[in-house]
Formats: sequence, C-alpha cells, structure tokens
Amino acid sequence: MRKVLTHDLREIFRRCKFRFDLQQQGVKGNIDSKTRYFRLLGKATEEAVDCKSRQEQTAVFLHHIQQLPVLEQQAARVEVDCMVTRSRELTSSTTNKTAKVKRQEQYKWVDNEPYTPSPDDREPPPLYPNPTFFTFYAKPDLVVEDWDAHGKIIRIVDEKIAERVRSKDRRNLYFFGFVASKQFAREQAQAWRRGESYEMPSIQLVVRALRSPGVLSVPEEVFWYKRAREKGSLQEYRKDIADMLEAERLGLFPASIDWDCGRCPFGKMVDGDPMTIICEAYRNQVLKQQQQAEDADTVA
Ligand code: SF4
Repeated sequence: MRKVLTHDLREIFRRCKFRFDLQQQGVKGNIDSKTRYFRLLGKATEEAVDCKSRQEQTAVFLHHIQQLPVLEQQAARVEVDCMVTRSRELTSSTTNKTAKVKRQEQYKWVDNEPYTPSPDDREPPPLYPNPTFFTFYAKPDLVVEDWDAHGKIIRIVDEKIAERVRSKDRRNLYFFGFVASKQFAREQAQAWRRGESYEMPSIQLVVRALRSPGVLSVPEEVFWYKRAREKGSLQEYRKDIADMLEAERLGLFPASIDWDCGRCPFGKMVDGDPMTIICEAYRNQVLKQQQQAEDADTVA
C-alpha cells in the first residue's frame, strides 16, 4: 500500500473496502454516461475559468464537450458557461484587489509527529500516538491569499459540479484545511529555525455548488478552520490509516453492497433496472474463487 492519504481514499475506504482495494491495485471499472457527463463538465469548467478570452474559452469547451453525444453538447455548453460565470463572480465579489489567486495549489504534510505528553495534559493519552509516516495530500480548486484587518488569510475554495453542498463536501474541505494548516505549521517551524519571521495565516474554507438552481441565494458555504480541532482530526485520520494497514495485513477487503454501488465504477445494473445493481467485480471474484476451488477438487 502506498503511504498516501487523500480525502477521496478515506471516503472510498470507509464506504467500500473492496472498491478501495481494487483501486489500489489500479483496476479500472466502467464509468457510466451520467458520471462521464459530469466529469467532462467539471474539467471544462475548471479550465475555462482560467481563460482570458472568449475564443480561448470556446476552444477549451470544444475540446472537452465534443466527446459527448451531439444531443447533449448544447445543454452542456450552457451549463459550463453558467458555472464559469458563477465561479468568476463569486471569486471576484469575495476577494480584495490585492489578493493573489492560485489555481490547483497542492498542500502536503508527512505525518511524523510523535505524541509528547505534557505535565499539564488533563486528557488521557490518545489512542493513536504514533506517527504513521503517511503523506497527506490536498489539492483544492482555488487558493486565495488575502489580508484583512487581523492579518493574512488563506481562503481555500472547492468548487463542486453539484446542485447543493453535501456533508462529504464539508468533510473534504476540512481535510484540505487540516493539511494546509499542518504544512503552514511546519513552514513556520522551519522559518523560526532559520531565525526568520513567519506570519501564520487564518484559514477560511469555502465550498461552492456551481450547479445550484438558486438564482438569488449564493451557492456557497464559508467557515473558518479551527486549529483547536486538529488533535482530534489527526486521531481520526490515524485511525483510518491503522484500519487500512490492518485490512492489508489480513488481506480482508469486504464488499459493501448497497445503494452506493449505483455510483461506483464496479457496479452494474441488470437489464437496465436501477433496483438490481450488482457488484460485477465482486461477482467475478467469487466466480473465480469457485472455479479455483473446483479445479483444486478435480486435481485432488
Ligand atoms: S459496486 Fe458496490 S460493492 Fe462493488 S466495489 Fe463498488 S461500492 Fe463496492
């Protein structure tokens, strides 16, 4: 197992360990047409937002949307245009003119922090005190470096091709905040060792649902990252890593067959009926195991 933790890996592991294992092995499933449509929309929007001219934007649009069936292209174009406009309007209305806007910034932090008890600690020692040496990665869509009367602010923005903000989007954003905060703390320690000053920024988290149907309501949620929650979050992430390593040690990645299989690349509908989604990858694995057992019986 690669010693890497991202929000997506955590979510997949928590929902279905079987899918997590398949993805770790690099097995690719089938992407259904709806997922493909939204992925292309997301890619086109992400690239079009950065375009300086209308022609450039049209070229980006054509590059991605031409891959869709002709009948879907017009609707997709309208959706992308609308999302690009929303993204730009929301960014410019919440950002000072002097702010620096960066797209696709990556944050990274290696968990090598040992637990050091302090005599003032009133709480019991944590359940996961040891560093995992996993590298945590976070790559938000947009990072804005801004200032207000209290000092520097890093605004981490995640833009979703969705109609509303879901709880998993908030968890995702909090994970981004955690990795960024840890990276800043490490940079601060390094700067101090060199005898330099370092301004620790406040972190603001923003999640936008770019396909929100609301016209008047702002399709975004904004909240401040709380460093006081960090210890507890680290314990949560370390627990997930410990569970992943234990599953790998035992070779035990059970399938969780439920409604979520309908959105999984390894799920498959029988006869086009959404009530009959099965896990094709799991079925193939069971059939293979049965075949191997029969072959072994025959040889015996
Ligand atoms: S189809 Fe369902 S059971 Fe199969 S890998 Fe996907 S989520 Fe897991």
